[in-house]
Amino acid sequence: EGSLVVVGTGISVAGQMTLLTRSVIENADIVFIGISNKVGENVVKKVNPNTVELNDLYTQGKSRAVTYQQMTDRIVDAVIAGQKVCAAFYGHPGVFVNPSHAAIKQVRALGLRAEMLPGISAEDCLVADLGIDPAAFGCQSYEATQFLFRDYTLDPHMTQIIWQIGLAGEATLGMLNADHCKVGLILYQEVLMELYPATHEIILYEAATMPLYGPKIQRFPLCELANCKPTLISTLVVPSLGLPDYHTGRLTKLGLTQEQVI
Ligand code: SAH
Repeated sequence: EGSLVVVGTGISVAGQMTLLTRSVIENADIVFIGISNKVGENVVKKVNPNTVELNDLYTQGKSRAVTYQQMTDRIVDAVIAGQKVCAAFYGHPGVFVNPSHAAIKQVRALGLRAEMLPGISAEDCLVADLGIDPAAFGCQSYEATQFLFRDYTLDPHMTQIIWQIGLAGEATLGMLNADHCKVGLILYQEVLMELYPATHEIILYEAATMPLYGPKIQRFPLCELANCKPTLISTLVVPSLGLPDYHTGRLTKLGLTQEQVI
């Protein structure tokens, strides 16, 4: 009977894969990979040579929703065919990945076994490399385009972690291409300038994808955001303005004063 385990290889694939993930890859009948990095792909292929790529499904002009559906179908079809299937994505397979969740849902709906194992995500690397604890100020973490499209409320007292900044404003079409995001970056700069000073230091971050490479950390003032050149693996970090004021009403209800909680 077919089954599915979705795993994550970590960001720097050689070294950040968990032992459990490695053993699932090793023991699968077939491994589908969505890794977008040759070194990472090769690491997986070495553990299990019977791999099939998913990235060939990205093609110019096709909507990404269709691509994700096709990736999901490829994975689910193999499970239906009775294989012990592993689907390996880079980072954490459940973080900003669509076909991983979709495939698990579909396989379970068929009454077959499906599970996801956690991996080291870009955000995990970011916390380590930038020394930002999401608990220090609280944290808002979201996808660049979704945020622009919807009427969200941004809290400048929280750390902002903005994913896929290289595709900001790119809706549905085309190859993944970071050249189109200029308007998106201009919009981001406008939105953020309403809440932060122009000189507020922001960070364009890329975790190392190979061992021996360090992370790429570019720091610049908010007023230069529109001119930065994010790649498809850049994440934008906007540090907190600091903790907000106390909510005295709630403190009172808790029987506390500010002095007691500092
Ligand atoms: N599953 C992945 C995320 C895939 S979505 C994970 O767990 O990290 C792709 C987005 O992830 C990119 O646009 C970027 O915002 C972030 N990302 C991927 N690789 C990264 C890297 N090396 N450094 C920083 N951010 C990265």
